[in-house]
Amino acid sequence: MKLKEIYANKENFKISFEVFPPKETDKYKNLYSELENLKKYNPAFISLTWGAGGNNNNSVNLIKTFKNMDFEIMPHFTCVSSSKKFVGEHLAKLKELNIENILALRGDLPEDISKRCTDFNYANELVEYIKHNSDLSIGVAGYPEGHIEAENLEADIKNLKRKVNAGADVIFTQLFFDNNIFYKYLEKLDKENITIPIVPGIMPILSKKQIDRMTSLAKITIPNKLKNCIEKYGESNSDMQKFGVEFGYTQCEDLIKNGIKGLHFYTLNKSKSVNEILKNII
Ligand code: FAD
Repeated sequence: MKLKEIYANKENFKISFEVFPPKETDKYKNLYSELENLKKYNPAFISLTWGAGGNNNNSVNLIKTFKNMDFEIMPHFTCVSSSKKFVGEHLAKLKELNIENILALRGDLPEDISKRCTDFNYANELVEYIKHNSDLSIGVAGYPEGHIEAENLEADIKNLKRKVNAGADVIFTQLFFDNNIFYKYLEKLDKENITIPIVPGIMPILSKKQIDRMTSLAKITIPNKLKNCIEKYGESNSDMQKFGVEFGYTQCEDLIKNGIKGLHFYTLNKSKSVNEILKNII
């Protein structure tokens, strides 16, 4: 089913799970069993990340396996350094696989930008290309605190609007830990007449290391409650995970109360915490 139709049905909110292709082949079986653990939540789709500069050779096989497991798929795709020819070939592959959705991204810029192909400079150009060259329903990324390269949130929202105008159907946000930031973002998007569904990205907290990494890569505010708990439990991953489930549950419960259309979980290929959070919600 297309993203557009998935979120058009307002009866209940939609759950989706992001996974990434494991680096080691022996971890594939593990990923499938983690996803089996989450099947009971009847996810609207599984989203599969794409390495901007990495090896994506296993994507097609993973998509086939997920389809055989009866999941709908939203593969991600990054256009940075991709030629139009390559993007065209990729879209043809997705068509062959009967894929209906895509998350259209620019991707992080490579270190040596002078050597990259510049057929696509920003995600809005990719959205436009996909819209004209396929029937795919298109998701795009949104950043409640602004993208790390953007001058400010307002400028980033103007650029998000370009993706919407080019044909995006749904916005999936970067993770955030403070729901008030997300609600203010929704107000700002509304003022810009961005009316397509905006689905919050939720990442269960697993360790201090994970939070340090995320906050070094993106603009993500750590609320005081979380700061205090990192100080208290940061040395113990099991304590952090326990706290993370409670934090994630409270965050999701509040989002649902405030009428969100869906929850998109960054699972990190692990089902335990997502399961613990969802079992108290659904
Ligand atoms: P864009 O929308 O192009 O924005 C990039 C920057 O350029 C922003 O600062 C924006 O304000 C600015 N900008 C945008 N358009 C214009 C314009 N026309 N003119 C001037 N400035 C402009 N990365 C991966 O490598 N693989 C993944 O699978 C992946 N999945 C993701 C899933 C989600 C839900 C999210 C939120 C992010 C994901 N990312 C992934 C990370 C993403 O690739 C990076 O954040 C990347 O740096 C930006 O991609 P984008 O599509 O948001 O880019």
